[in-house]
Amino acid sequence: MAPPTIDTEIKVYRPRGELRVITGPMCCGKSEETMRELRRAVIAGRHVLLLRPALDTRVEADEEARSRSGQTFPARTLADSSGIVPTVESAGADFVAIEEGQFWDSGLIEAASALVDKHMVVIVNGLNQDYLGRPFGPMPTIMALADDVRVLTAICQVCGEEATKTQRLHADGTPAGPDEQLILPGGFETTAAVDRYEARCRRHHQIGPRKVRRH
Ligand SMILES: [Zn+2]
Repeated sequence: MAPPTIDTEIKVYRPRGELRVITGPMCCGKSEETMRELRRAVIAGRHVLLLRPALDTRVEADEEARSRSGQTFPARTLADSSGIVPTVESAGADFVAIEEGQFWDSGLIEAASALVDKHMVVIVNGLNQDYLGRPFGPMPTIMALADDVRVLTAICQVCGEEATKTQRLHADGTPAGPDEQLILPGGFETTAAVDRYEARCRRHHQIGPRKVRRH
């Protein structure tokens, strides 16, 4: 049998769905990397859309996300994952970036898979681990299903080495313990939160004592 010619290959071409994950600790450049991908997709003539999870009840219908270079992209904030597929379809998007994957409910997994099945490119970014170093929300499953996973590193705020962990610190500088609320109101961006986060290497990642003693 003769090998397929280039013509044959072109005839069977269909746009390929793809699930990509960009992950790592706080401050590793996940958003910047996502913006870079969106910029490239616009140049390639794709219809891009950026989706964010609402961390409170406030949902903005129409927004724009701005990259550091000043380019803007259409963005929506959704209350939960049930809005993902309808929002993407009504926006006519075929290249979707979903931010803060760790904060979505588990329906994110099904929604992202459904979009990829419709031959879309879906990028999910988010923290792979919480401040205790545990797999965070739907991220581990999304990573397992992805065609491509990019694990970015940050710089350890203590020693300057590669950081793969997210350190949570109280206002007095002591590390947060294992029995504290996982997600603070406002997520990571809030100025109201007394706790702060920084990137740490494995050696300098610390977990504080339990607040409540177990008997
Ligand atoms: Zn370190």
